[in-house]
Amino acid sequence: MSEVPAQTAHWNRQDFPAAAREMLENSQTRKNVQHATNVIQAKRNKVTAEMPDWEDLREAGAQVRAHALRHLDYYLTQFEANCTRAGGHVHWASDAVEANRIILGLVQQHQAKEVIKIKTMTSEEIGLNAHLEANGVRPVETDLAELIIQLGKDRPSHFVVPALHMNRQQVRAMFQREMNLPDLGDRPEDLATAARTYLREKFLRVKVAISGGNFLIADSGGICITESEGNGRMCLTLPDVLISIVGIEKVIPSFRDLEVFLQTLPRSATGERMNPYNSTWCGVHPGDGPKEFHVVLLDNGRSPILADKEARQTLQCIRCAACLNACPVYHQTGGHAYESVYAGPIGAILTPQLHSMGEGRSLPYASSLCGACYQVCPVKINIPEVLIHLRGKVVREDQATFAGKFSLWNIGMQAAAFLFKDASRLAMAERIGQIGQKPLVSKNGFIEWLPLMLNGWTQTRDLKAMPAQSFRDWWAKEKAPQANSSQRNEMGHDG
Ligand code: SF4
Repeated sequence: MSEVPAQTAHWNRQDFPAAAREMLENSQTRKNVQHATNVIQAKRNKVTAEMPDWEDLREAGAQVRAHALRHLDYYLTQFEANCTRAGGHVHWASDAVEANRIILGLVQQHQAKEVIKIKTMTSEEIGLNAHLEANGVRPVETDLAELIIQLGKDRPSHFVVPALHMNRQQVRAMFQREMNLPDLGDRPEDLATAARTYLREKFLRVKVAISGGNFLIADSGGICITESEGNGRMCLTLPDVLISIVGIEKVIPSFRDLEVFLQTLPRSATGERMNPYNSTWCGVHPGDGPKEFHVVLLDNGRSPILADKEARQTLQCIRCAACLNACPVYHQTGGHAYESVYAGPIGAILTPQLHSMGEGRSLPYASSLCGACYQVCPVKINIPEVLIHLRGKVVREDQATFAGKFSLWNIGMQAAAFLFKDASRLAMAERIGQIGQKPLVSKNGFIEWLPLMLNGWTQTRDLKAMPAQSFRDWWAKEKAPQANSSQRNEMGHDG
């Protein structure tokens, strides 16, 4: 049996600055990403604005998710008991290796050489497709965008619209090549028809399906999936065996809680008022749906996140991707720059934590901290707060090593902290800076080049030169005497 690494969510070819630089050079991808995110965001803004209780819904969503996380052990065991009672089988997987082994074992028990799949981020996270293929099982993605990614041997760049970085002409060329359809048109209906024809035969023939789950429902042992194309409904009902892999954080206490998320998720994700297909299923029922049902509950680094009080809110995420669409950094770089299954602002906090800060350490810095992600998040995850918390972790981990402690960056930051702690030291540094900058200032009053580590700033923009007079000096000369004299007058009057 071929094994996969325990952690696969991060592709780890290069860090964010290097990957982002590469992506920024691809003007077609940037154009595609900006167009698509602008369209989705405009739709999202419109349908959320028409909800008078939108803020209440966000607050309710945040509280339900936070409550479930605080009592995760209770709700997961409740889910397991109810799911088992309804005829399902629950498996616990501590990491990617274990989850892959369980799923492959179940597929092999049924001698399946092919499986059909509903779009699932958790299967991407554990590298399931590669593991199945390495062991002689062909996974077939049935979501249109995932199918495009799979046939194009590409990587997803957005978790609601995985092929968002491609335009219609690129998809058409790939379908023509991979489906042997030289006369295929490029209208959306042409592409949808080609995919439908390709998939229909598989829905009817393949006996094992693999899904994810948007929510695990503790009080019934059920699972809920929301989708737009109906491919999910086919995978959930036609095959004999259904295997669902879901992160442990996805549990909600009750069926009733869905009323919040079925309103906030589609509006945040695609700007739809409601998803066309909302499926919930629970165990097995003779003559209706799969004969065998398995749930794999995946930890894979989630428990340590839960244990971190400041970062725990990361697990509230319902994967709507609204934060990606709102993020000015994602707009420019697209998803591949994050080198991770989870892109954008949520990826920037989730990926490094899933890897105990070992990989993706540059990701907490992939943000302008503008707060747009926090404003749109339907479960109110304060992403900037977590980003800063994680940046602190990276710095402290670096400072604990010899190389980090004596790095130019750390020495520079220590020096800055020393200066900022005392007004007179800062004033002296300003005066030294005013004199020292003179050879670097060009005629237009800007500095176009800075030495050493400061060079990062001037690589992409100019720096305005320090003024001849600082605010501190101006205040001392112009305002302080006036303030002192009016204070004296007041004291005289009172006395
Ligand atoms: S962090 Fe919030 S906005 Fe981003 S994907 Fe998760 S739920 Fe959506």
